[in-house]
Amino acid sequence: MFDVLIKNGSIVDGSAAPAYIGDIAIKDGRIAKVGRVDGSARRVIEADGKVAAPGFIDPHTHFDVQLLWDGAARPALAHGVTSVVPGNCSLSLAPLKAHDRAKLIGMFQQIEEMPPEAFTQAFAWTWETFDGYREALRSRISVNVAPLVGHSVIRLWVMGDAANQRAANRDEIERMQALLRTCLEAGAVGLSTSFVDIDDRGWPVPSRFAEFEELDALCAVLGEYGRMLQCVPEFYAMDLTIARIDQLAELSIRHNIPTTFSPLFDISAAPNNAPRAIARVEEQFARGARVWPQMQTRPIDISFSLLRPSLFFARLPRWVQVLRLPLEARLAALRSSDTVAKMVADLGPDGGEAMMGGLIVRGGDAAPDEVVGHRLSEIARDRGEAPGMALIGLSLENGLDVAFLSASMGHEDAERIGSMLAHPLVHIGASDGGAHLASFATYGDTGYLFSEFVRRKGAMSLEQAVRKITAETADIWGLKDRGRIEVGRHADIVVFDPDLIARGEERAVFDMPGDGMRYVRDSIGVETVLVNGVVSYEHGAYTDARAGQFCL
Ligand SMILES: [Zn+2]
Repeated sequence: MFDVLIKNGSIVDGSAAPAYIGDIAIKDGRIAKVGRVDGSARRVIEADGKVAAPGFIDPHTHFDVQLLWDGAARPALAHGVTSVVPGNCSLSLAPLKAHDRAKLIGMFQQIEEMPPEAFTQAFAWTWETFDGYREALRSRISVNVAPLVGHSVIRLWVMGDAANQRAANRDEIERMQALLRTCLEAGAVGLSTSFVDIDDRGWPVPSRFAEFEELDALCAVLGEYGRMLQCVPEFYAMDLTIARIDQLAELSIRHNIPTTFSPLFDISAAPNNAPRAIARVEEQFARGARVWPQMQTRPIDISFSLLRPSLFFARLPRWVQVLRLPLEARLAALRSSDTVAKMVADLGPDGGEAMMGGLIVRGGDAAPDEVVGHRLSEIARDRGEAPGMALIGLSLENGLDVAFLSASMGHEDAERIGSMLAHPLVHIGASDGGAHLASFATYGDTGYLFSEFVRRKGAMSLEQAVRKITAETADIWGLKDRGRIEVGRHADIVVFDPDLIARGEERAVFDMPGDGMRYVRDSIGVETVLVNGVVSYEHGAYTDARAGQFCL
């Protein structure tokens, strides 16, 4: 007797082999039989007309904290994602001494746009070690977790306040190596580092103070286990990104480790950038290095209101400063004609027309009906103001709760993106799930891969698209026995309608601790998701299964 039998599905097994009609039998969390299966099962899932594929794997998330109160990483599981990699971009919840928590929360708030309440209201923070964090997750997870450990927190643990003030000495580097080793022993899938991020005081994050000797020493430890180095390169300057690709390649070859960097965007203003990076990656792979660029499927959209800081203002320090003030002080600043004049002056001689004119008022609780759906340039014309001034005025008149959408900020030419996503050396990822909560919803990047690049553009076949986000990801990251429909593998399986699978519209929900807001997208066309053989989502609802495991 099997535990579960999936009948008559179109099996897309992750290898990119042509789909075939068959059954999948599951026993004790693993795939027991594939093909024509006779025999009974406690649970039969009829998959006639549907695809049965390996569960999707998301290699770039910041679900570190959400998993503590929401083990399904909602709505990722509903989109068919059965395994996630948290701990990217040099930040993880462990190892971390209790007295450094406020610092880490500040970094998550600044870099990943996560509210402090997410760290203080929904769980008891009882651990300091990596193993302790893992134990805290163990009984709560409904998805599989392959956590990275963050270079910035490793540095903080060993160097304290000096972590973002100076380079490490030999003794500190050795202590970091030992600490990283304990994390890898406890199942960390690799180390993440960042060359660009700043903390909440505007200081470079600790990982940026590492000299090459330190990174090299940590990679030597990764080499003992063959684990991953993830990094955020200077993505805003392609020459620097190319130099990072070369550096990652050296580390990869020297220590025999896989490396990956993200994000890699295609930007129409600099159309040679992404192809240059991919060409350099090809050259480095040809030498035997493994340097996987991560590319997202979705175009870049950012939403924001003046209720909180936003990525949108990243290049406008004065705006950032004002938006970081507590609400009362922020309102006062925005009412000061002096401050506002300076803010608008920072937008340049066009008063923000180029940067803000194309913004669309998307809603927010207080947005007046007559402006919703309109462009800021029109609204500004009606008001007889420059766009920057109109944005501040309209926000102030409505308690700041007016949301603006900046659509099409790049990575939007589906023709170009499709061929890059299909490239054998481009790793599909960089969803950033769990982060940038009030800026955009990353959930549904997998559905969008199928709706946009398989069905609409035909940039790749269904089988290729499935391989890209299952077997290929498992192989790149060394996630054992995942990513394929094959006897003996973990039974992570998604049953979906290949004609329907897509991402829903972006919408605001208030389900973060402290009723915090975030944008999400519902899944479309995903019928049933099994994690380690247990039905964890079906027909629009999460079950109460907690069948997630650690991948290592
Ligand atoms: Zn990230």
